[in-house]
Amino acid sequence: MNLSVATGGPARRTLRFALLLWMASAPAASYAVTNYTITLAHPEQHLVEVQIILPEGPAQRELQLPVWNALYQVRDFAKYLNWVRAKDRAGRPLTMHALTSSRWQITGADAGALVEYQIFVDSPGPFGAQFNSHHAFFNLGQLLMYPVEVRSSPMVVRFNKVPEGWRIATPLTSMPEGRFGADNYDQLVDSPVEIGDFKESDFDEGGAHYRVIVDAEAADYDMAKIDGMLRKIVAAATSWIDDRPFDNYMFLYHFPRGLAGGGMEHSYSTAIAVHADVPLQAPEVLESVTAHEFFHLWNVKRIRPRTLEPVDYTRENYTRALWFSEGCTSTAADIIELRAGLLDERHFERQLASAIAELERRPAHLTQSAEESSLDAWLEGDAYYRRPERSISYYNKGELLGVALDLAVREASHGRASLREVFQWMNQNYAKKDRFFPDSDGVREAAEAVTHADLGWFFVKYVAGTDEIPWDDFLRGVGLRLIEGRNTLADAGFVASRNFDGPMVASVTAGSEAERAGLQTGDTILEINGKTAGDEFSQEISQLSAGDTITVKVKGRRGGDRELKWKVGSRDEILYELRDVDHLTAEQQARRSAWLKGEAQIPQETNPH
Ligand SMILES: [Zn+2]
Repeated sequence: MNLSVATGGPARRTLRFALLLWMASAPAASYAVTNYTITLAHPEQHLVEVQIILPEGPAQRELQLPVWNALYQVRDFAKYLNWVRAKDRAGRPLTMHALTSSRWQITGADAGALVEYQIFVDSPGPFGAQFNSHHAFFNLGQLLMYPVEVRSSPMVVRFNKVPEGWRIATPLTSMPEGRFGADNYDQLVDSPVEIGDFKESDFDEGGAHYRVIVDAEAADYDMAKIDGMLRKIVAAATSWIDDRPFDNYMFLYHFPRGLAGGGMEHSYSTAIAVHADVPLQAPEVLESVTAHEFFHLWNVKRIRPRTLEPVDYTRENYTRALWFSEGCTSTAADIIELRAGLLDERHFERQLASAIAELERRPAHLTQSAEESSLDAWLEGDAYYRRPERSISYYNKGELLGVALDLAVREASHGRASLREVFQWMNQNYAKKDRFFPDSDGVREAAEAVTHADLGWFFVKYVAGTDEIPWDDFLRGVGLRLIEGRNTLADAGFVASRNFDGPMVASVTAGSEAERAGLQTGDTILEINGKTAGDEFSQEISQLSAGDTITVKVKGRRGGDRELKWKVGSRDEILYELRDVDHLTAEQQARRSAWLKGEAQIPQETNPH
């Protein structure tokens, strides 16, 4: 086997692993190391086989396969498990008793045990696990069970039957004999693995080493451009937060044709997938996802809400803090892009105005708070929940709250502090002290510490409450105001979301022509105006004008194809634009320029830490 192993784990863990390996091979080793072997068994059938060697210990053990990992959604990975069995060291079968659909109990394991199972992995994207003839990408939490009693003990993983010519890239710590180590299960499943014939690059910046792994068609990207973008982002981010809590970091990119989108943050890496057209035709999308995921290494991975720890892999982990952990990560990403020269004032203000419009257009902004939206993250997989009448996005409102908090902090501190000082304070007082912050109260604590002012009103009204954000009040300090406009849009009268068979109707507007024509929630759209409803379906819909006739072929929930025809209606959409206030003062201009740099206007004499 031609297996060239390439990794980039944090160097400070290497020594510990060298020691651990020695202990594991010593005859009377008492160190409880769990060993995993992942066999790339059948690429055509997307099947991998996992073997877990449990060290000696209690006679009775429990093993759990997570029901979620990475994405805040219960995905019940056990549904992909084909079979599981356990043996003792001598090869005699041990009883493996299912306790739930995702948990098993083994008896007679006192001298150690061998657990084997086969699992189907064919979920693409940075949150998934996939094995096919092209590559393997693993979110390990989707395929590795953990021994419940030793979840916080060291784990070692190796890969078997790696096809000729494929290499392994992962932020896990590299060990001899092609093995990889993690201090515990949480760290193991916080480390994505790419196995295949990928391209790679690396660079040093500010004392750290960065590796870039790209699995895509060579014609779809330019590695030198990606490196150039990354250098700017990592330099701007580390200087903005004034910290670099790692020596090695890995960017893992996939640029697939067809459905893609998203990134997944990890402590020492990120996995990002964007459509193949993005790197060359819309690099700003790649820049924005990358800046967001990179900043997550602080915000959410290290500046971490108390409610997400310890991770409970058996059920939903409810937190009110995603407006901050996700939304304010986007606020920070914009600041990083501004500082890196990847975003200018005009585009930044245009994005801000359109984010305000996005929130305003959702009637649920008056019924669901940013904290409630965070709690309800677990419902987001459902199209009915995602309707504008039911929910807002904690990304959208959270990003806006980050902007508003930045402006409020500047106002309350008379320009002496900004969102930067809030993040630096949380990094110093929580992340660096290995403490988790108490959700919104922790953000308030930081904002009040750097302003020496009471900011309770902000959190009561806009974070826990659903008060309209008075943008002109917040923006006045930087000399801007919000101009409202209307745009008349074609409206087909329904909302659809992607489903396995094609777009499925999630809701039909009451009183619309679509409703009169007989379109029903749950209908699957097969054709629009004679064309198969595929990936370009939303584009097809967006090109319709009011008054056009739309002909749709649908399949009902109980089967039976119907052809429906109706006239496209119209609706008014709210639009915003940011403009200078009348009589812009020098003071407003000075504060705006500090705001656009993400810096305090007046440097603090004493460090806020
Ligand atoms: Zn995020």
